Amino acid sequence: MLMLRAAATFVGLLSLPLSSVAVAAHLQPEQWPKTVLRARDHARTLADWEHGGWSLGAVAERLVRSPNPQSETRRFCASLERLEDENLAVFDSMIRGESLRLDSPCQSRLRSRLERHWEREAEELERREGPIGAPIALRSIQVPVAAPDGPVLFRGGLGSRQVALTFDDGPDGERTGRLLLALEEWGARATFFATGQGAQRFPGWIQKTLRAGHTVGSHTLTHALLTKLNAEEARREIRGGLLSVLEAAPPGFPAAAFFRFPYGSRTGRLQELVRTEGMATFFWNMDSLDWKIRTAPELLARVKQELEWRDGGILIFHETLEQSVLALPYVLKWLSQNGWETAVFVNSGGGRSAEPPRLSRH
Ligand SMILES: [Zn+2]
Repeated sequence: MLMLRAAATFVGLLSLPLSSVAVAAHLQPEQWPKTVLRARDHARTLADWEHGGWSLGAVAERLVRSPNPQSETRRFCASLERLEDENLAVFDSMIRGESLRLDSPCQSRLRSRLERHWEREAEELERREGPIGAPIALRSIQVPVAAPDGPVLFRGGLGSRQVALTFDDGPDGERTGRLLLALEEWGARATFFATGQGAQRFPGWIQKTLRAGHTVGSHTLTHALLTKLNAEEARREIRGGLLSVLEAAPPGFPAAAFFRFPYGSRTGRLQELVRTEGMATFFWNMDSLDWKIRTAPELLARVKQELEWRDGGILIFHETLEQSVLALPYVLKWLSQNGWETAVFVNSGGGRSAEPPRLSRH
């Protein structure tokens, strides 16, 4: 999803203070990978990183708009080759992305390196945790939510040892299928928050997700930081996201008028806007921090800690990240062994108005 957000992120770049742009201007492409890594390490939140001028999307824009895109891209790619695997993994979406052509022999070398890296991560997980073994199905409950009432959920009303697994930013052409397989094997149902752009690009994955019994809500059209938009632009993002997932959904399996703010970033006004659009809002009380944690074993440890500490509620992952896909079967195994049940939110409709939210493209 990071790559798909290149255009939106570039808008963020333009609004940077002049000093940051000046600093950015004198840096050579050889310095960009380390600058991205530093920006990511220092970011307190995902929004800080993605809107601070050194996100992957911003770098992609720089390459596309540079006066010598080919030579700058070659230099940038060569500098990626000098990174250690764990740092290279941060650039995963860029390296496997289709929207930016890195120098092609360089890009294929990086792709094979990443493949081997993720294979080693999978082996490391198994070495630490033991083989995954035969899945023992989790109990899965449905939690009805009346979207037209515009409720705002953090823990989702869930009790002890009840977890709602949620996945943002998808669908992902390479990863959604593997997530769905793991969920199916362990009998877990989850709630997905897809972007409109993702739904337009991969409608088939929205359909498979819904047909597998999961819920799909929306996450704006372009993964916009809504707090930077005016009311009309924000409304367009919110409606555009919902419309796109509704359009991608197969007959008889509607997407839900469930919404998640990108980066969890909202104001009172934006929250009121979502409510008047007839949508329920989902935050979370457990954060996997998968955007920040690079390795699957560390991610698994973090998730277990959150689950133990909070004892229930809504847990957030990103559908686009390999470390999350690798860790998920072990999360599900842990839940199963520790007597947890998974919860999926379903739209109970009703509420203030039985009609679906009024949707229009303007
Ligand atoms: Zn997101």
